Amino acid sequence: MALFKKKNYIRINPNRGQAPANEPTVPDNLWAKCPSCKRTLYTKEMGAEKVCPHCGYNFRISAWERIALTIDEKSLEEWDTDVKTEDPLDFPDYLEKIASVQEKTGLHEAVLTGEATINQQPVAIGIMDSNFIMGSMGTVVGEKITRLFERALAKNLPVVLFTASGGARMQEGIFSLMQMAKISAAVKRHSEAGLFYLTVLTDPTTGGVTASFAMEGDVILAEPQALIGFAGRRVIEQTIRQELPEDFQKAEFLLEHGFVDQIVPRTQLRERISQLLKLHTTKGWMTND
Ligand SMILES: [Zn+2]
Repeated sequence: MALFKKKNYIRINPNRGQAPANEPTVPDNLWAKCPSCKRTLYTKEMGAEKVCPHCGYNFRISAWERIALTIDEKSLEEWDTDVKTEDPLDFPDYLEKIASVQEKTGLHEAVLTGEATINQQPVAIGIMDSNFIMGSMGTVVGEKITRLFERALAKNLPVVLFTASGGARMQEGIFSLMQMAKISAAVKRHSEAGLFYLTVLTDPTTGGVTASFAMEGDVILAEPQALIGFAGRRVIEQTIRQELPEDFQKAEFLLEHGFVDQIVPRTQLRERISQLLKLHTTKGWMTND
């Protein structure tokens, strides 16, 4: 008679999402999927550095998280948060989009710049954030990075710059592209004064950012497995009519081909930056500490 037995159906509550106040809730962001090894992780396993315990992939982190991991506590003096875009192309909904991303991320633009100390060593620091319109470089990002180098030059400071970008910002067209030349000129003036410039390429560093200041560092570090490239993989494959190797545009591939000086896991990054600053700044040299 099992044939006529009543089946056990799952009850679907049509009012889902409107759970009563006394019902336990599960917090968001408890689990994450590693984009590299595809495993599901309990976020607490990754630690503050957000590194996959299985494959060592360094998850994308916000500029604020980067600040917390890199500089001495409360040492940041942020620069140029008053620069605003003129929306030169009158791009539909562009200014509204910026306002909403500003609110969501707590950032002024896709790059945060300022002065800080790392293990007591003063630096001019820039951190790009891919959560802000994919870390794209428009006029404000270009102007802030240019001023970062100009101020560093005036104050005799080394520059440490973390890159993360999808490239130039399409909403500002050609005005985005000219930032590449503008920043590069400022980098050159800073360099001619004998000052040190360190870049840290993080996932993803692409497009106009790679084609300019990301690759102009005196020393270029990268995080493990970071995507670093200029044009997208498919564009290149279609242009040269050849299939590209699997690890093409990964930090490890670039290291092998001489574009990156060293790959440093995030857990060791702060110490490595501090060491390089000591080696390359006059103050560290003279005090020999
Ligand atoms: Zn992984």
